[in-house]
Amino acid sequence: MFDNLSDRLESVFKRLKGYGRLSEDNIQEGLREVRLALLEADVNFRVVKDFVARVRERAVGREVMESLTPAQQVVKIVHDELVALLGGRNRQLDLSGRQPAVLLLVGLQGSGKTTTAAKLARWLLSKGRAPYLVPADVYRPAAVEQLRVLGERIGVPVHPTDTSRPPVETAREAVARAGLQGLDTVIVDTAGRLHVDEALMGELRDLKARLEPQEILLVADAMTGQDAVNIAGKFDADLSLTGVILTKVEGDARGGAALSIQAVTGTPIKFVGVGEKLDQLEPFHPERIADRILG
Ligand code: GDP
Repeated sequence: MFDNLSDRLESVFKRLKGYGRLSEDNIQEGLREVRLALLEADVNFRVVKDFVARVRERAVGREVMESLTPAQQVVKIVHDELVALLGGRNRQLDLSGRQPAVLLLVGLQGSGKTTTAAKLARWLLSKGRAPYLVPADVYRPAAVEQLRVLGERIGVPVHPTDTSRPPVETAREAVARAGLQGLDTVIVDTAGRLHVDEALMGELRDLKARLEPQEILLVADAMTGQDAVNIAGKFDADLSLTGVILTKVEGDARGGAALSIQAVTGTPIKFVGVGEKLDQLEPFHPERIADRILG
């Protein structure tokens, strides 16, 4: 992810460093290229406009730091603004409050939701939590079976969902059962559909109202770029998401969704999926990613 963006920014900054002293024109020219680089990375155009305006204001206003050359200062400002764009600091999962904690995974079919449920369970297990996986996509028995198999592979118990019963009842029963078994984190894999529709949203609103989950996490496919951003906007408007898990980022050379979701929807990315294997889930650290982008 971000390979092209990283290369483009590197060449912009190399040129700026060659000037020694920077005129306002040099900065404007550099920022024009930063703008193009971000647009090519498929970042939402309004986000790009605001980003460049903020950098320009700070760079031309020159917050002078004695230890840095003018070009280094521009790099630092771009770095800081990238961190802010990516969501600031890393946002941990909120597992506080009533136990067992409930995490609702929502998203469209094919986004990687079921795989991510298992990855998250595995990650939580490694952090000392006792997860319980709940398949709640009762319309797709294959999805229920998929989660059962994945749970078995990672040694996490999976709720024996009866697909003839309403998902809300199943989920409530699962939370109660987890409590009785001393399991502290319930991960509910909700139904996905090909499109955002009212039936899906109605069911998710119902689950949210009845389960009062600590986290409502949207699983979205990074490869779909700005579509993922629009989908995040729709789910957030309906459900007030607490976070996004962006999947398949290792196959996304541009990174537009990762760079736009927080700014457009106000929802932080909490994890990224970096491959099909169950250990390929990583907490999302804006600071580290900005470091990587700027090489
Ligand atoms: P669901 O329909 O949303 O539940 O999606 P699935 O969990 O069945 O995943 C759909 C496909 O995406 C499967 O082939 C997964 O292996 C794949 N997948 C999920 N996460 C990732 C990821 O981070 N990287 C890659 N390359 N593939 C992923």
